[in-house]
Amino acid sequence: MKQAAGDSITQQGDAPHVLLVEDNFVNQKVATVLLQRLGLKVKITSNGREAVEAVSNHKFDLILMDCHMPVMDGFEATVAIREIEARTNTYSPIIAVTALAMSGDRERCIAAGMDDYLSKPIDIDLLKAKVNHWLRTEVVCETQKQRRKVLRPKAALTLVKSEPLDMAELEEFYEPEQLTDMMEMFLNDTQDMLSKVKNHMEEKNSKLVAALAHEIKASCASIGAKNLARLCLYLEQTACRHDWIEAEETATSIEREFSSLRDYIQSHLPQESAT
Ligand code: MN
Repeated sequence: MKQAAGDSITQQGDAPHVLLVEDNFVNQKVATVLLQRLGLKVKITSNGREAVEAVSNHKFDLILMDCHMPVMDGFEATVAIREIEARTNTYSPIIAVTALAMSGDRERCIAAGMDDYLSKPIDIDLLKAKVNHWLRTEVVCETQKQRRKVLRPKAALTLVKSEPLDMAELEEFYEPEQLTDMMEMFLNDTQDMLSKVKNHMEEKNSKLVAALAHEIKASCASIGAKNLARLCLYLEQTACRHDWIEAEETATSIEREFSSLRDYIQSHLPQESAT
């Protein structure tokens, strides 16, 4: 059978259950038709609060989340959902659905704990590819595992742009010289790896991009640069699935986050350091 766009991706009877969170009724209708055409069962909620309520009563296979909604937006809702999941040890992939034009949305989506990103108007082929990817059990398990590692229990997800790392906390643990050494090493190494990422992105070498993103993520996690760590995890995942549109956007976000982290580190180091 030919796999034309719109073909059902599942057998009748075991239809995966998708939660659609969208406040615009026309968009709601369009997305519902598209999802049903893919053979999915759809539950609709019109704002973040309703979505959180729905998630606390039912485990969905996938969540499509609009970002901008009244009552509670998609970012807040995602944070609340990830909190529920941390308690119940469950995980539903969340795909943000929003207009690409809203600059900064992608970073906020990732910071809030979303897994993927789709721009409006929704392209059926792209939707199908992403739904197919995120409905795979092993992908969901692996994502949950990775997130637990990067986010550790206490590392709450952030809503507002917080400081890129907690220097005061580091200062309690390390001597000033140790801290300066460590930060200089981090900045140099990361800068180095980021230029390699850039090259491998151009070659679309998913293995090397993912490996570097993984490496940078590890360094970020050990100094407590949570936002950058999360962006790197996202880059790692997008590179692994050859989603170069997302990967490109994320690499740009990473550059931006790294440069503000560098500024932050340089202005907060206990003693002046040469660069
Ligand atoms: Mn909206």
